[in-house]
Amino acid sequence: MDSQHLRPASPIAVGVLGFGGLGQAATRVLAPKAEMVVVAAADKQGYVYSPTGLEPQACIAAYRDRGSIGYVEPGGVLSQHSIADLVTSAPAVQGYFLALPNLPNTFMASVVQQFIASGWQGVLVDALKRTSAMEQIWALRADLQAAGITYMTGCGATPGLLTAAAAIAAQSYTEVHSVKITFGVGIANWEAYRATIREDIAHMPDYDVDSARAMTDAEVATLLDRTNGILALENMEHADDLMLELAGICDRDQVTVGGIVDTRNAKKPLSTNVQVTGRTFEGKLSTHTFTLGDETSMAANVCGPAFGYLKAGVALHQRGQHGLYTAAEIMPQFVR
Ligand code: NAD
Repeated sequence: MDSQHLRPASPIAVGVLGFGGLGQAATRVLAPKAEMVVVAAADKQGYVYSPTGLEPQACIAAYRDRGSIGYVEPGGVLSQHSIADLVTSAPAVQGYFLALPNLPNTFMASVVQQFIASGWQGVLVDALKRTSAMEQIWALRADLQAAGITYMTGCGATPGLLTAAAAIAAQSYTEVHSVKITFGVGIANWEAYRATIREDIAHMPDYDVDSARAMTDAEVATLLDRTNGILALENMEHADDLMLELAGICDRDQVTVGGIVDTRNAKKPLSTNVQVTGRTFEGKLSTHTFTLGDETSMAANVCGPAFGYLKAGVALHQRGQHGLYTAAEIMPQFVR
């Protein structure tokens, strides 16, 4: 089939908010792609904008060696209001990937409110994890629609890729009994993904989002020394449950999420998978299992889907479909 008609005439201009583990990986994921170009990025201390596209290695070097992409030359600006300043200085950006920490648990919703108030119109994509955080975004859906923003929520790996896989797997059944997500993450060094690790610690017994947020890096390192670098997580508060309930697939209490994170080894401690159990129209009980390849990293499984949903979001936005969508109700589009 000729797929030329699926290709946009010019690359989609993308911004990346947050330039830690996922933000940096995002620029590398898009580097070989023709249909999307990263033209803008922000971290906590600054931002950079280049209408013709950012140079990933220069951005990563500035962030690593000097602490902010605000030092990138040319185009870098130091700012304590980097998101607001970038949004007003980068009119060409059609969509942003929000690779930001959700610490405190209200942070992402506050950023979304900032976008709504700014008058900017386009596509926003998040890889939000907590159910209670997504409920805050859900409460903003009418405001997003009125503002002309198409917002795609829960578009990482879990929630995201695995939730969408569950929505597809459910189609074989007349009733869905359970969705069980089990993830394995291997990262060589926890400091490459500080927010991800702090947010995971917040799911451990005796911790919550505020106490995990307040931990110093040394305290996180001490905790990881005690566990030999392993975080074992079960019954996590993960928005896959809300997304599958909103999509009408099952009740949220039928969805469980847990996993193991090894912070000292890039090899996954177990194969990430989703198991969807249900009953067919003939009365047969069965389980579909979708397993990710062990060689695929967390960054690949989050950033790939995020941009696939961003591309789908641009198509919706161009048709005047604004408001809030989840990864369980829209099919991501492949970015070439
Ligand atoms: P990180 O700690 O490595 O980086 C965070 C970045 O955000 C840093 O560059 C920091 O400077 C920037 N930042 C912080 N506050 C800011 C502000 N006010 N304005 C602008 N920039 C700001 O984070 P990470 O480990 O890459 O994780 C990012 C998010 O992705 C986390 O919330 C994590 O939970 C989420 N995540 C989701 C999935 C999924 O599958 N859905 C998987 C992994 C991570």
